[in-house]
Amino acid sequence: MQFVQITLFILLSGASFFLFFKQAKVIYDNIMLGRKEKIHDDPAWGLQQMLIIAFGQKKMFKITSAALLHLVIYVSFVITQIELLEVFIDGVFGQHRAVYHFFESHRWLFFQQLYYLSINMIEILSLLTFAVTIAFLWRRNIIRLPRLNKPEMDGWPRKDANLILLFELTLIICIFSMNIGDRALQLKGGNLHYPALNGGGFLLSGSIAPLLTSLPEGLLIILERFGWWGHIIMVFVFLNYLPKSKHLHIMLAFPNTYFSRKEPKGEIINMPQIMNEVKSMFDDSFVAPEVEGEIKFGAKDANDLSWKNLLDAYSCTECGRCTEQCPANQTGKLLSPRKIMMATRDRIEEIGLGIREHGPDFSDNKSLLGDYITKEEILACTTCNACVEACPVTISPLEIIVELRRNLIMEAADSPAEWNNMFTNLENNQAPWQFSREDGLNWVDDMN
Ligand code: SF4
Ligand code: SF4
Repeated sequence: MQFVQITLFILLSGASFFLFFKQAKVIYDNIMLGRKEKIHDDPAWGLQQMLIIAFGQKKMFKITSAALLHLVIYVSFVITQIELLEVFIDGVFGQHRAVYHFFESHRWLFFQQLYYLSINMIEILSLLTFAVTIAFLWRRNIIRLPRLNKPEMDGWPRKDANLILLFELTLIICIFSMNIGDRALQLKGGNLHYPALNGGGFLLSGSIAPLLTSLPEGLLIILERFGWWGHIIMVFVFLNYLPKSKHLHIMLAFPNTYFSRKEPKGEIINMPQIMNEVKSMFDDSFVAPEVEGEIKFGAKDANDLSWKNLLDAYSCTECGRCTEQCPANQTGKLLSPRKIMMATRDRIEEIGLGIREHGPDFSDNKSLLGDYITKEEILACTTCNACVEACPVTISPLEIIVELRRNLIMEAADSPAEWNNMFTNLENNQAPWQFSREDGLNWVDDMN
């Protein structure tokens, strides 16, 4: 039986990690379909951003209640990784609570106490997480918090969010089933199959276990094994579900915050070619440097965007904080910055799949601008930056909007009629108004 369990565990974990890395490679390749761009060359600054924003959850605290609920799940997730390590050791070596018994056999009392403490902490955090997960389901599906129920969340995104919460509930039930079964077996006077964990763990399970001691030992072993296997199977399912889900942010939030931009948020990144055009308009002696290759203004499709924009799209948590703050969305316009990120991710996945199946020249005559994001949406943006400021993982929907708008106006020459006068004035008068540059200081004469 032991041999069967060890073999099954090794096969399951091998298959699970193999499939996960395969999916991770696809995501990496998709991100690398983006335009090359250097974000910064300051690793110390990048690490600082990662520690403060991703680890420290700094930006989450702009909404205190949501941040506190999220913090419980986050801390619980981090702490339970300790237990997961032991589960792996147990699985590979066919042991039960191997780490504890290692400390016990060496009479390392301090570490034994630490072990009890961590088991108890995991139990308390698991119970809190259970309550928080119910609260999350409640506010998504019963209260229907407006930012979580915008039109772009219909269909798969809503199912995805709910599914992951149900995974979490199942995982916690398994943890308690494992601990309760374990403790009840100890109280019954011995776990025949596995050496028992003695003494101080199981702060919460320990209060339920005495109620089950009248059950047959075989049933308690099934309860404990159901919890152990259920726990690890949920971890494998979760691992392979992540790449398809918005929950990928639990991994990508870290590189994404590392690659935060150092430039001030309000700074729009200009194209050097356009800067040169403007300089030559203002200064007749300026000679624009030669540019090699074809110049493309802005982005029409997802692979015209930079790799950082695509990493942003994969890191999006779909929390809707950006959309909630967006003045265009608040005033009933079609634009939702969250939808910009979701559409970018969907489109780059489609392009990546097409390239893998049909080769690098794949074309489906579709594009991000037009088929996924409409002209009406991007023209509604005021470039106010509220979405960038609100995002807990330093994503910029605005960069994508600006790139798409550049393409719409400079490549497709499809700007709204009202804007064309302003462009003509800028070109002729170097100002948005219909006055010549020489008349620019006439107002001074009126002041005598
Ligand atoms: S920058 Fe554009 S998309 Fe972002 S909040 Fe402002 S109007 Fe909305
Ligand atoms: S872009 Fe940022 S704020 Fe907007 S939904 Fe994604 S993670 Fe949330």
